Amino acid sequence: MRLFDLSGKVAIVTGGNGGIGLGMARGLAEAGAAVAVAGRDAAKNAEAVAELARLGARAIAVAVDVTSEDSCKAMVARTVQELGRCDILINNAGTNIRKRPEEYTLAEWRFILETNLTSAFVCSLAVYPEMKKAGGGKIVNIGSMMSIFGASFTTPYAASKGGIVQMTKAMACAWAQDNIQVNAVLPGWIDTALTRQARAQIPGLHEKVVARTPAGRWGVPDDFAGIAVFLCSPASDFLTGTAIPVDGGYSVQGAA
Ligand code: NDP
Repeated sequence: MRLFDLSGKVAIVTGGNGGIGLGMARGLAEAGAAVAVAGRDAAKNAEAVAELARLGARAIAVAVDVTSEDSCKAMVARTVQELGRCDILINNAGTNIRKRPEEYTLAEWRFILETNLTSAFVCSLAVYPEMKKAGGGKIVNIGSMMSIFGASFTTPYAASKGGIVQMTKAMACAWAQDNIQVNAVLPGWIDTALTRQARAQIPGLHEKVVARTPAGRWGVPDDFAGIAVFLCSPASDFLTGTAIPVDGGYSVQGAA
């Protein structure tokens, strides 16, 4: 269907070598996009590229550390050099350190804010000239349930993910005139490397998430293929500045 067709489009997915990012990259690839898989780990990048190639997509691996402005600029330059353009950016790379607020060092706060929030600003600025040149583009920022709620063990992460939503709105307003749509996706609890670590640290987390989620299960990376295609395709051309929960109903569950 043309509405969801991404043939001829080029996407960068930061953190596209695993978890939610790879789930989104698979969706984009299946819809016809060429994909630059951008992450720090070369082996994971190569594996993800091989997987996308098996789906019939053109894909390249791009080494990037999103906490470095130079590295983000080089990621965009390399993508344009190899794939010819850049129409889609998914700001997905992210990290977390779980502690009570009074236990964080300033360096840890900065590391989380830089990885999760500043990186999305820097990468968006780096792709903006390419999207403008192409006559439009799509930026998708990955937030979290911590964009909406708080939790005692996640102060800098919640600050970064709340910031993602407000940055999304501001950029959506600024760049609508360039036909660039900027939206955020707020995942619920998804089974990835990041949350496997959380489940190991927080006793009972697995069961609590299942009990609180109306869908009755944890999400999986492939749950993000559809929203990625929708937000990166002509189907969403009049949708900008939103933050869409993809959470099995977690964020709308009231008291029983
Ligand atoms: P993963 O740990 O599987 O993925 C994180 C990705 O980010 C990896 O691909 C990693 O690649 C990349 N990354 C981390 N730091 C950097 C860096 N400095 N430079 C470049 N890449 C980096 O976790 P998820 O898939 O769960 O997380 C993806 C996003 O989804 C994150 O933004 C996370 O906050 C968000 N999210 C996840 C939820 C969940 O339940 N899983 C819930 C809500 C939000 P590499 O190792 O190669 O650097």
